[in-house]
Amino acid sequence: MTDPVAPGEQQLPAWSHTVGPGWAALLARLHEQLLALAPDYRIESCRRALGGLRIWVAERFDEQGEFDGHWMDAASRLTEEAEARSGRTCELCGAEGRPRFRGGRHGAWITALCDTCAADPRTHAPPVRVHAHG
Ligand SMILES: [Zn+2]
Repeated sequence: MTDPVAPGEQQLPAWSHTVGPGWAALLARLHEQLLALAPDYRIESCRRALGGLRIWVAERFDEQGEFDGHWMDAASRLTEEAEARSGRTCELCGAEGRPRFRGGRHGAWITALCDTCAADPRTHAPPVRVHAHG
């Protein structure tokens, strides 16, 4: 299943196919933490950038229609922690890793890999991209 994710309408498990399997546990943990804060939370965007995850939560508004700054503060603390951890976690296997530079005819990119996966020639192919339709 590689259905595109509708921005702002999905929780983290719906985004897990957009990143490598090594980061699945990281996203699952963040999902639990965000659920504890707000069971109906939504993710605006979740993608790989500069060798780590970049996650944006959707804004929330209280019953009076006021912007919920407490939620954004608390949620961004959690996403920042997950983003920092992703840069030290191999995107393929979940072991301890660090950002590596890769490049080829399709351009250059950075991906977080452990020593073992970094030595695997398959990781020299560009990361899988998710194609959004329309
Ligand atoms: Zn690895």
